[in-house]
Formats: sequence, structure tokens, C-alpha cells
Amino acid sequence: NTFAEIDLGGALNLNIRRCKYIKPTPVQRYTIPISLAGRDLMACAQTGSGKTAAFCFPIISGIMRGQSVQRPHGFRTVFPLALILSPTRELSCQIHLEARKFAYQTGVKVVVVYGGAPINQQLRELERGVDILVATPGRLVDLLERAKVSLQMIRYLALDEADRMLDMGFEPQIRKIVEQTDMPPPGGRQTMLFSATFPREIQRLASDFLSNYIFLTV
Ligand code: AMP
Repeated sequence: NTFAEIDLGGALNLNIRRCKYIKPTPVQRYTIPISLAGRDLMACAQTGSGKTAAFCFPIISGIMRGQSVQRPHGFRTVFPLALILSPTRELSCQIHLEARKFAYQTGVKVVVVYGGAPINQQLRELERGVDILVATPGRLVDLLERAKVSLQMIRYLALDEADRMLDMGFEPQIRKIVEQTDMPPPGGRQTMLFSATFPREIQRLASDFLSNYIFLTV
């Protein structure tokens, strides 16, 4: 019932304490064990429920504990291990800020890319290396088309506020992105889908993107 009882890994445990998170919120209490067990997940959760930590903790913990993976060296192409998609620049930056706090001194690098800002600064950030990429769908498609990012090593995929991304018309971009993360087994990605509502379109995304998933409403 406290984070002290869930061992997420040395440096991450310390960062959680530094952030003064003592007790998991309900969404964290239910989703973190499922994600740590490697299962896909669809969670209905509102903003402010603590979703960010719910998907960041298992991702950071998994990357810290994973065997160091050999990543290909492309000519200025980067190969992140985790992707967090979110609808807006504001939300992406907020997730990036939190994820960086959680990943402090873990060796896990977090980079954010979003539209409506010059791409060059973001390219320079990417070239310094990235384990977790936080992105808005449009800018990520742009980077994929320029072959600056490859999703071929993605182990963890989180879609945050999926209903809002669909409302904003991002479904084609999301499908294009997710198609490129399909690693053959046993590598295969683990997927977490978060949404405040669960209309038919989100159910369709869930059945297309998740495998043998657990459904939660908080
Ligand atoms: P989120 O829903 O992820 O945007 O989180 C909402 C707010 O709650 C943020 O300011 C978080 O830093 C904070 N928060 C998330 N989880 C916890 C926790 N377990 N204990 C205390 N604060 C938290």
C-alpha cells in the first residue's frame, strides 16, 4: 500500500521518495503491478489521477532492469526503447518534466518532441541519445518520414489521453506510428492505453493495439 513495498529499482525508488510520493493513487495501485508483470493494459482514468507515474514507473523500471540491448547505429537515426504518445505540446512537456524527475540518475534518457516548434533543437536533443521518447503524433510522423527516429526497438508503448488524440483527428498518425513499432516475438512491445472515456473508437484501438489485455476503470 506504499511505494516502499513495491520495489521498482534502486535509483527509481529514491526518486519516488524525492518526489514525496508515499502512497500510490488508485490508478497507480491497480496498473503498476499489471504493467510490471508484462501485461497489456487499457485504463479509463481522468487527468489528475496520477496516470503519468502509472505509465512512467513500469517503463523506467523495465528499461533499468532489461539486459542492455544492442541498438543499431543508423546515420543520425535514433532507436528509442519506449514511446509515450500524448495529444498536445503542453501535456507532452508536462510528461517529459515528470519522467525526467523519475529517471534522474537511472541512466534512462528522456526526450520530448512536439509540433509548432522548430525541429532543429529537437533533432539535436535526439542525437544525444534517447531511451524514452515523449511525442505528439504529428511531429513524430514527420521525424519518422525523415528517418530521424526508428521505432523498431520499441518495447514499451503508452498512449495517454487516447480519446483526446482521436478527437483531434490523430487516428491516421497514431495507426501509422503503431504499425512501425511491431517487433516480431519474443521482442514484442508492451502497450498501455489510457483514456478518460471508452467509446467505440477507443475500443477499436484497444482491440487493434493491445494483446490479451486487462481492462480497468478507476
Ligand atoms: P497526473 O494525473 O499524472 O497528471 O498527476 C497529477 C498530480 O498528482 C501531479 O502533480 C503528480 O505529481 C501528483 N501525483 C501523482 N501520483 C502521486 C502520488 N502517488 N502521491 C502524491 N502525488 C502524486
